[in-house]
Amino acid sequence: MMLLTRKMIEIRSLLQTIGQSDTLTLPSIVVVGSQSSGKSSVLEAIVGHEFLPKGSNMVTRRPIELTLVNTPRAHAEYGEFPALGLGKITDFSQIQKTLTDLNLAVPVEDCVSDDPIQLKIYSPNVPDLSLIDLPGYIQVEAFDQPTELKTKIQDLCDKYIQPPNVILAISAADVDLANSTALRASRRVDPRGERTIGVVTKMDLVDPVRGAQILADRNYPLRLGYVGVVCKVPRETKSLFSKGSANITSLITKNEASYFNAHPEIYGPDSTVTVGTSNLRKKLMHVLEATMSASLATTSEAIHQELAEATYEFKVQYNERSLSAESYLAESLDAFKHAFRAFSETFGRKEVRDIVKQELDQQVLNLLAQRYWNRPVESLRLADEVADSVQEQIENLPKADPEDPLWHLKLDASTSTLTKLGIGRLATSITAQALQESVQALIQQSTFSSHPFAVQTISQASSNILKELSYDTADELEICVKPYKYRVEVSPEEWRQGRENISQVLASELKDCECATRAVEEQLGGKRKAKDVLSFIDRVRKGEVVLEGNTAAGAGGFSAALLAKGREALFLRDRAAILRLRLTAIKSRQCSHPGPSNSNSTRYLCPEPFLDAVASKLTSTADLFLDAELLSKFYYQFPRKLEAEFRALDAQTVERYAREDPKVRRHLDVVRRKEMLEFVLKEMEGLRELERREGGRRLRG
Ligand code: GDP
Repeated sequence: MMLLTRKMIEIRSLLQTIGQSDTLTLPSIVVVGSQSSGKSSVLEAIVGHEFLPKGSNMVTRRPIELTLVNTPRAHAEYGEFPALGLGKITDFSQIQKTLTDLNLAVPVEDCVSDDPIQLKIYSPNVPDLSLIDLPGYIQVEAFDQPTELKTKIQDLCDKYIQPPNVILAISAADVDLANSTALRASRRVDPRGERTIGVVTKMDLVDPVRGAQILADRNYPLRLGYVGVVCKVPRETKSLFSKGSANITSLITKNEASYFNAHPEIYGPDSTVTVGTSNLRKKLMHVLEATMSASLATTSEAIHQELAEATYEFKVQYNERSLSAESYLAESLDAFKHAFRAFSETFGRKEVRDIVKQELDQQVLNLLAQRYWNRPVESLRLADEVADSVQEQIENLPKADPEDPLWHLKLDASTSTLTKLGIGRLATSITAQALQESVQALIQQSTFSSHPFAVQTISQASSNILKELSYDTADELEICVKPYKYRVEVSPEEWRQGRENISQVLASELKDCECATRAVEEQLGGKRKAKDVLSFIDRVRKGEVVLEGNTAAGAGGFSAALLAKGREALFLRDRAAILRLRLTAIKSRQCSHPGPSNSNSTRYLCPEPFLDAVASKLTSTADLFLDAELLSKFYYQFPRKLEAEFRALDAQTVERYAREDPKVRRHLDVVRRKEMLEFVLKEMEGLRELERREGGRRLRG
């Protein structure tokens, strides 16, 4: 059992997952030969399947790192491209197709690429081996091949045939060995012929005596010797097998046996030459095992070195703080939940009240503007509209009369608009929106912010919960405010509060209005210019100036844009005047009390405090209800939902998630690299111990 090779191949796979560095190359068998020397046929004979790209043109453009894994207890044979993640491929013609595609993907102008294709083949019929197939040497470029192709292939092969690799030099029996490109290449890097195995293919094409002479070659002596093979599968038998799936080992063995057995005097058991693919396999296994064993010490040393570097980085850069994708996720989630809990303590009934009341204040302002303050000029079309001046308008505003049914109707309609606004849906949706925005802000402040995947998961979770809770909450809240739709009583205290609040609202609205006026005035080119424009518009309104024709280009020496700005300024001026007027009215004694409880007459005179009191009543119901139904349920469900969502993630997703952040990725890589190297080093030490004992036993034996 070639335990060492197997273990070393496993170790190499592990090292590959952490980006094996150049110092950690474990020995492989590198297969070189000129085109048509039978290189592919030899490799396929070893694997037992046709799987290499075929074609008249040069199709191997990238090195193929072929790892054979012996699976003694399994029946199935399959291949895997670890870097492509295509899974197990049991159809070898599919492997052939994939290899062809990968090779053809190398642009013609690049000729060859030194980016290797990794292919693993698992089978009970293959030995544990690590082979590298390289593009075949060419003698002369074909007319359609780039001129530098020959050198490029040579350079690529030279890179791979360096120690500690074993060279498998393929030469065809019908070509003089002196002309073998493979042997010549091996000579350059292995002049003493210590790590080269010579394979002579197409033994059936030469006379057996000549064949034996070739294998016993004295001109190119190789310490590991030559093996003669006949790897061609007879065409007639091959067609009986379905292409790609059948194992061709027995066909080749039979074919080879029928040839070599026909010449027992030369290739028989007493012969000094080695022939046959099965002998070649055995030789490869032994040679690789011995090479692995010889390289154990240097490889261990290299791993020691790598580990020392990784440990240093871990200490200096990360202060020896261990990290895994899972622990990173768990920490991030804990921190997020903590921040969320802190937020939930700052966002309660009072905060809901503030945002709902603010919204209703706006609604009240709109209602008042529509029903009570609706006389001022809102927009003025220059040519055809003539209106009163602001002062006149204010003076002309209808005087309130508590006895007049019209004034009752006005207030009743306004109150009803407010109570039938759909406060349930409105208050619920603005609260839910505020919560969702707060969650977004929390995400941005958390480590999750650099993870698009987590941002998406958390936002989705909160939005789903809020959506679900909102349905019922909105409906139930609507039922709660129902009584107000029929009758609203306002106590003197409520009136007082309403009066105070609406005064503030109007004052702040007035401030905004004045601010906007100043901004527009500035856009008009200053106070004086603004005055000119405004007085022109006023004169038009009063009919003192009559405009004729098309005013699209402007009028009175002012451009159309300037006049439009002027109208905006006028609107703001009107609005400010009305707000000031109403503020004075509300602050007057007339509005200081709701009036006798049986008539509540003041409300018709001063609708502002009354409507504000109604809005406050609605808000009180809403905040109480939303606090109990929306906030507390959301605060309970959301962290649990997050916990469940993140816990359900599979290891791969967690890893991908953690790696989204470059800083975390680097940290994880260092930790992983260090752990992996520690593990590999332990394995290597075990193997060296085993080798020492085995070696001792061999010596004693
Ligand atoms: P590569 O270009 O070096 O990979 O060579 P291939 O393995 O594709 O073989 C080139 C040609 O030689 C093909 O037509 C094979 O069928 C043929 N061939 C390979 N091995 C043998 C063999 O042992 N005997 C004979 N007669 N032909 C062979």
